[in-house]
Amino acid sequence: MQRFSVSTPQRDYSAFIGRGVLQQVAEHIPAKTGQIFILTTRDVWDLHGARLPLPNAKVLFFPGGEQRKRLSEVEALAEEMVLAGGDRSSLLVAFGGGIVTDMGGFLAASFLRGIPVIQIPTTLLAQVDAAIGGKTGVNLVAGKNLFGAFHQPLAVLIDPDFTRTLTDREFRAGLYEIIKGGVIRDLPLFEFLESNVEKVLSRDGDSVERIIADKVRIKCEVVTADEREGDLRRILNFGHTIGHAMESETGYKRLLHGEAVAFGMHAATDLAVRAGLLAVTEAERIHTTVKAYGPIPSLEGISAENLLARLASDKKTIQGKVHFVLPTCIGEVKVVTGLDDGMVLESIKAGLARS
Ligand code: NAD
Repeated sequence: MQRFSVSTPQRDYSAFIGRGVLQQVAEHIPAKTGQIFILTTRDVWDLHGARLPLPNAKVLFFPGGEQRKRLSEVEALAEEMVLAGGDRSSLLVAFGGGIVTDMGGFLAASFLRGIPVIQIPTTLLAQVDAAIGGKTGVNLVAGKNLFGAFHQPLAVLIDPDFTRTLTDREFRAGLYEIIKGGVIRDLPLFEFLESNVEKVLSRDGDSVERIIADKVRIKCEVVTADEREGDLRRILNFGHTIGHAMESETGYKRLLHGEAVAFGMHAATDLAVRAGLLAVTEAERIHTTVKAYGPIPSLEGISAENLLARLASDKKTIQGKVHFVLPTCIGEVKVVTGLDDGMVLESIKAGLARS
């Protein structure tokens, strides 16, 4: 089992990675904990619930889906918890994909002004990204993830075997986030992904565990250095700035989050070359690797001009300036502002052509 520590002003905790890691869940539950709640979805519970040794916990089912990741659902779940005897000694286990870990984290952050949460992510994306770092929340009509809180978990338990039951598409969506980790901070991880495409795509156990651990380590390091999206945490947004514009342009329906990041990585890599920051040979390695873990759904008919317009209204825009995270070589990125709109537009077009 591997363990990576996160240290934040709110709490110090660890992410544990290994097959069978759930057997130790009880060790992470503080003495004097009252009612334990498990927030999950029916599919995850039916597939993997039997592996969670918490016999006295009350299971709360949430239907899942981005459109249900809403404050009204959090309120209904909180009412259910009160009726089931929830109080300040309660603890919540979020057991599912990123929607469950985000919503569960927020439910725990706000229930009686805060109860502890243990994160048990079951999608690759949630394991390497969403469940670590304490960013929790729900969607508003005005936009995704606009309402939430920072609430760090007691622990994050990651069993790579959960990823075996994901659809190919969900699995690949998580892989794009891992490629992102390699580009922003970890050349050996990138090289492993570059030269082990078949092994990874066939979900070879050791390979999957290795890449999960690498990306989890990166996320833990970045969160520790910078909990609240200051300069360092911002590097995690490589591929996100333009990818997020794509997600909102397509109404969050056409692409999974990781797929939007894959498109965004193509565009940002192209932009880095145009801005004179990245060598063409390095850029081609990034494009080739992103593509090798594809495909993503067709982006035909999407207007590059509309995507450019959406960039300005992204919540990651600070005082009207769009920040791009651009690679300077594989393993290092730089936050850049003030790029010419025409150049950005050309890169968006190039990203669309490559996706
Ligand atoms: P998801 O939670 O919708 O899960 C995808 C689907 O897979 C769901 O139908 C789910 O029920 C199912 N599933 C989960 N585990 C499974 C398993 N082991 N086997 C088979 N099916 C399984 O989607 P996601 O991609 O995990 O998460 C996306 C969410 O994560 C978005 O809402 C995004 O905003 C959020 N997110 C948050 C952060 C953060 O830092 N808080 C970071 C990235 C993404």
